[in-house]
Amino acid sequence: MNPWLLLGLAIVAITLALWIPRFRLQSAIAAPFPQEWVGILEQNIQVYRDLPMPLRLQLRNLIKQFLHQKHFSGAADLEINDEIRVTIAAQACMLQLNRHGDLYPKLRYILVYPSAFVVSRPEADDSGLVSHRSRGLLGESWQSGKVILAWDNVLHGARNFVDGRNVVLHEFAHQLDSESGHADGAPLLAGKSSYRSWAGALSQEFEELQNDSRYSRRSLMDQYGATNPAEFFAVATETFFEKPRQMAKNHADLFKVLKDYYRIDPGEWQ
Ligand SMILES: [Zn+2]
Repeated sequence: MNPWLLLGLAIVAITLALWIPRFRLQSAIAAPFPQEWVGILEQNIQVYRDLPMPLRLQLRNLIKQFLHQKHFSGAADLEINDEIRVTIAAQACMLQLNRHGDLYPKLRYILVYPSAFVVSRPEADDSGLVSHRSRGLLGESWQSGKVILAWDNVLHGARNFVDGRNVVLHEFAHQLDSESGHADGAPLLAGKSSYRSWAGALSQEFEELQNDSRYSRRSLMDQYGATNPAEFFAVATETFFEKPRQMAKNHADLFKVLKDYYRIDPGEWQ
């Protein structure tokens, strides 16, 4: 075959391979938001009606993108339906409002169990003895592009958006955290000064939460956040979205860095 023709065909093939996914995504976002999905949002997402209209419209576009790009599957005989997909997508996309970046680029799959699921993992004790321990979980985030969730807890968290506990916000904060290449409580930030203020605010608050946990003191944030910096960021995200006013009042520096990162102030609509 003529080498120039071959080159031309290769260029056309590469252009199509790049263009078709982008075209499909743009078509999915441009499609009307189904009325039944609006019903699901109004029924299940407690905070949806309180969002200002521009954020509501932005959320709907993000949901369309999320559902176009991510694959859902059910475990333990759970059948995936639109209620499950939209309820999970809406909460995951709350973390992406105003951020205009890629939507969880590493994430491919969401696996949903009907309720808490049991995992068995090898764990070593202080002497190095390794044994398998089984634990019940409500959610899990994998750096390899997967999030696992328990549907009954997802729904409870969506319908109660003020108690500071939300498994979807928690697991998707882990996804954001791992975009930097390490799940260490520091997601991708804008510049060196952002990392400095992030480290300053989070390390001080992390230490305080560890002390609250150690001395059995009450705390605004769930003390599971004292486990390590990655869990602290995930728990702080739950508190930021669900108890913004208390966080702004009692943990002002932490609230400010999270507000700069998430580019919204949930206190404005609560
Ligand atoms: Zn976690």
